[in-house]
Amino acid sequence: MERLKNKIVLVTGGSRGIGAAIVEKLATEGAHVSFTYAKSPEKAEQLLDRLQKAGKQVNAIQADSADPQAIQSAIQQVVSAFGPIDILVNNAGIYIGRPFEEHTLEDYEQIMNINVRALFIAALETVKSMPNGGRIINIGSNMAENALSAQTTLYTMSKSALTGFTRGLARDLGPKNITVNVVQPGPIDTDMNPANTELADFLRSRMALSDYGTGSDIANLVAFLASEESKYITGTSLTIDGGLNA
Ligand code: NDP
Repeated sequence: MERLKNKIVLVTGGSRGIGAAIVEKLATEGAHVSFTYAKSPEKAEQLLDRLQKAGKQVNAIQADSADPQAIQSAIQQVVSAFGPIDILVNNAGIYIGRPFEEHTLEDYEQIMNINVRALFIAALETVKSMPNGGRIINIGSNMAENALSAQTTLYTMSKSALTGFTRGLARDLGPKNITVNVVQPGPIDTDMNPANTELADFLRSRMALSDYGTGSDIANLVAFLASEESKYITGTSLTIDGGLNA
C-alpha cells in the first residue's frame, strides 16, 4: 500500500545513513522525495540512480545546512518544481565529540548551525506554503534525554533544543492541522556511529535489545509519522533506541 502517494517530501541530509533510508522508504510509499546533501555528491548520485531505476520519484539538491540561504533556496526549488511541501524531514546533523576543555567557539557554531538553526530556517520557509495536514518530522537523538558518555556536551545540547522546538512549533502550527514531532534514534549503524567500535560495545551493554538498529528502523517510524495514520500525534518525542534509555 502506498500511504504517501504523490505527497511532496523534502528530507535534509539524504545522501547517506538514516537520511538515505528515509528517502528510500518515503519514495517507496509513493511520495515524490527531494533530498539535500552537502559533501557527498557521489553518494547522492548513487542513491538517485538506484531509486530512479526502481521507478521511484526522487530528486537531489546540494544545499549545506550551515548556510541559511542554501536551505531557503533548496525549499524554493522544490516548491516551484513540484508544489508545496507536504512533509518536511529535518534529518541532516553532525556530531563533534572531544574533551570539553578542547572545544572552540567554532565547534559550537558549527553544531548549532547545522543541528538547530537549519531546522528553524527550513520550517520557516516550508510553512509559507505547507498545506493543511502537513508534517514536520525532526530527527533528534535519544541523547536529548540521556547523555550516555563524556565528550557529548555540544551534541546533547543541540539535540535537546529540538524537543523544545518541536513542542513550541506543534502549538504554533496545530491550528493549520500541521503536526510536528521529533524522532529520537539511539545507536544506528551509520558513518556517524559505526557498530564496530569500543563505544558501540559500551552502548550495546546498556541496551535492552542489545544490538544496533538500522536506518530502516528509523525510516519505518518516519513513514508512519508522515502518514494519515499518525494524525493525532503532535508535539512529542518518540525515542527509538533498542531500550538504551529504558
Ligand atoms: P551520517 O553522518 O551517517 O549522515 C549524515 C547525513 O547528513 C549525510 O547524508 C550528510 O550528507 C548529511 N549532512 C551532514 N551535514 C550536512 C550539512 N551541513 N548540510 C546538508 N547535509 C548534511 O549520520 P546519520 O545518518 O547517522 O545521522 C542522521 C541523523 O540522525 C542526524 O541528525 C544524527 O544526529 C541523528 N542520529 C543518529 C544516530 C546514529 O546512531 N547514527 C543516533 C541518534 C541520532 P553529506 O555527506 O552529503 O554532507
